Amino acid sequence: MAANKKLVFLPGDGIGPEVMRQVSRVIEWYDRRRIASFDVAEGMVGGCSIDKYGTPLTDETMAQAAGADAVLLGAVGGPKWDNLPFAQKPERGLLRLRKDMDLFANLRPALVFKPLIGASTLKPEVIDGLDIIIVRELTGGVYFGEPRGITTLPDGSRRGVNTQVYTTGEIRRVARVGFELAKKRQGRLCSVEKANVMESGVLWREEVQKLHDEEFRDIALIHMYADNCAMQLVRNPKQFDVIVTDNLFGDLLSDCAAMLTGSLGMLPSASLGAADSSGRRKALYEPVHGSAPDIAGKDAANPLASILSFAMMLRYSFDMDEEAKLLEAAVVRALETGVRTGDILQPQTQRVSTTAMGDTVLQQLDKLA
Ligand code: NAD
Repeated sequence: MAANKKLVFLPGDGIGPEVMRQVSRVIEWYDRRRIASFDVAEGMVGGCSIDKYGTPLTDETMAQAAGADAVLLGAVGGPKWDNLPFAQKPERGLLRLRKDMDLFANLRPALVFKPLIGASTLKPEVIDGLDIIIVRELTGGVYFGEPRGITTLPDGSRRGVNTQVYTTGEIRRVARVGFELAKKRQGRLCSVEKANVMESGVLWREEVQKLHDEEFRDIALIHMYADNCAMQLVRNPKQFDVIVTDNLFGDLLSDCAAMLTGSLGMLPSASLGAADSSGRRKALYEPVHGSAPDIAGKDAANPLASILSFAMMLRYSFDMDEEAKLLEAAVVRALETGVRTGDILQPQTQRVSTTAMGDTVLQQLDKLA
């Protein structure tokens, strides 16, 4: 068994602590079975940290997260903190984590689990067996580019400006994540931009192609315009393996791909930084969903997105692919038993609590191990 891995656990607000409790149970299971051992330090982020410390993320928690092997986060936010000024909102805690750890690559898998095939709005044959992953550039592009702002013109009308900007380095580092992922999967990468109408898109396409020709000739690279990619995702999503794209297009396309699977409560994500000399990357794993204040405190939330985020952590931070597959298989088996939280309830299935869903995953882990 390898040395203990250092995790920082940030459950956050709303349903965050409830779903993360189930992740803790899964971690304890791996520990008990001596498959992997983790040193887990728990901290606060978001509204709970505002209530206790007056800030959505303390410097101490930030330092702890930056020094960890991986960070696991639940969710932040809620109506209690909605009226705070933008700079003091719970979400600022999450944004600071991403910014200070320079997490530039956001990985969002869209995986269709057979027992949930009916939850998608698309025909079963279109999504059966779907397993794609979108890599979105997270720290550059039009959301951060300067100049930006709203100005009033001499004639009294107003003008809004945002700037799409990318440098060679920013493109190459996220493209590299895409190529490396493709290498571990089916060996296919689709790079997405709008080189037909945007200079930043021309640069994106040229730099991705260059990196391919220099270092990743074994990967089958294609380029696609973002509007076509949106269409292809709903027409024939199984044509893709890994998609790499910028911040804006990635924001839209990853939500579109996520909904191919039909449920927010099932979607994990990873945000990765640059690899250091030992190949280790700073990394944050979290479910895609928010704090769901409407069901918080009721033991009703779906914990599977968080549990699957932990599986991503095993795979991407610790290279434990077999262990990640084991957990993913346990999730599928749990769903096959017919248990469902409210968000994925279907006819002829049994509605269960967050805790009972966690129980079922653990039972299936016991059977599979
Ligand atoms: P949300 O994802 O919290 O909820 C949307 C809907 O999906 C709700 O009806 C909710 O009950 C349901 N839902 C979400 N996750 C679920 C789960 N695991 N199991 C069962 N049902 C689930 O989005 P929202 O309502 O727009 O936002 C609520 C709060 O969460 C806001 O304060 C928002 O800012 C915050 N938020 C945080 C994050 C994050 O922490 N990464 C992301 C999105 C929203």
